[in-house]
Amino acid sequence: MRHRDTPRGHFRENAGLLVIPVKASGTSQDCSNCGVKVPKELHVRWHDCSNCGCSLDRDHNAAINIKNRAVGHSALKAKSLRAR
Ligand SMILES: [Zn+2]
Repeated sequence: MRHRDTPRGHFRENAGLLVIPVKASGTSQDCSNCGVKVPKELHVRWHDCSNCGCSLDRDHNAAINIKNRAVGHSALKAKSLRAR
């Protein structure tokens, strides 16, 4: 299977590394610290939360949100496996 044949937007296992599909929408808007939505224009590169005072780079904030969602994903999976 040639890599360039992979359709855009599809997640797949690559070289043994499991890629968890995470819904990335809103990750740059939500505060990674308290979860409150902080609407910002695309040109605003800094995340400044008026609720908890969290202040960090917009992309950094989004990355933390994506990581948190991925962690939640695996936690849910582990929970359902344990319940069997
Ligand atoms: Zn916050």
